[in-house]
Amino acid sequence: MDKAQLEALRARYADAGALDATDQGLRRAAAQVKTPSGQRRAPYAGLPTFLDLPCAEDATDLDVAVIGVPMDLGVSNRPGARFGPRAVRGIERIGPYHPTFKTVPMASARCADIGDVPFRSRFSLDQSLEDIERFYAALHAQGVRPLSVGGDHSITYPILKALGRNTPVGLVHIDAHCDTMGAFDGSKFHHGGPFRLAVLDGVLDPERTIQIGIRGSSNMFWEFSHVSGMTVVYMEEFMQAGVAAIAERAREVVGAGPVYVSVDVDGFDPAYAPGTGTPEVGGLTPREGLALLRTLGGLNIVGADVVEVAPQYDPTTNTVQLAAQLLFEEFALMTLGRNAQTGHP
Ligand code: MN
Ligand code: MN
Repeated sequence: MDKAQLEALRARYADAGALDATDQGLRRAAAQVKTPSGQRRAPYAGLPTFLDLPCAEDATDLDVAVIGVPMDLGVSNRPGARFGPRAVRGIERIGPYHPTFKTVPMASARCADIGDVPFRSRFSLDQSLEDIERFYAALHAQGVRPLSVGGDHSITYPILKALGRNTPVGLVHIDAHCDTMGAFDGSKFHHGGPFRLAVLDGVLDPERTIQIGIRGSSNMFWEFSHVSGMTVVYMEEFMQAGVAAIAERAREVVGAGPVYVSVDVDGFDPAYAPGTGTPEVGGLTPREGLALLRTLGGLNIVGADVVEVAPQYDPTTNTVQLAAQLLFEEFALMTLGRNAQTGHP
């Protein structure tokens, strides 16, 4: 570098601030994340919320509400997903800028962390599922789109009941398991069966459903997925076809109608996400999962979740780090729809 170039750099950057970019897009994003005082918020201080969003008790005026569902009475093996929401709230150094979409999602929609679903009893799975449905039906009636952190995967059934009551939704589902299993031990309500129940209730359209990352020793339980017309992408096929091809298939399957996105962290390899109740080796990498989700921009996403985060099995905290990032990806997708409607940058 010659002296003149160095002088030019000094003149431009020696006294420039952290958010002082030349690029117009980055400058606009910087303006959206600036606090009134000009100070950056410390991610380790203050009361933790999902993605550092503001808190709200009342969801009336929101586009997107982030909700914790600390309930794991539906697990078939290791419990602990009730601790997922608190742990994910603790990871705040995610976003606010989305590098692929070049947006600041929290500035693109009215959004807040509205706390956790209130449960009548910590002892009753059946009652808890009713509580969830009632809570989400009220949000849906207000036009608020829910973004949830579980909890075990049984929570997605009452959420779909609330969202799909009038129009059945499509589904993009990342998981090691299809979760379309029948009843066992006297209960059809458990984390291995929410999507069978949702189809049978007429709130989930199996022909607009794609399940990605399926593997492990439970394949004998997934007949319902195939018979009902779901698209099931086993891990072997995922590896052969690659992310781009599977992403294209997902867009084809769900089409333009309302779609729900449900991500079970056990879809990811336990090397990255050991903090979950039913880990299965040989899963997606975070790179693959993020790449896949980032192709879903423009879908009509009516709700999304990240479930089965059981942080106590992961002393590295990598699982909650991944879960918070996945939550941010879903959040970004949900606000892209909003951008399309409002023309917001
Ligand atoms: Mn699941
Ligand atoms: Mn699973």
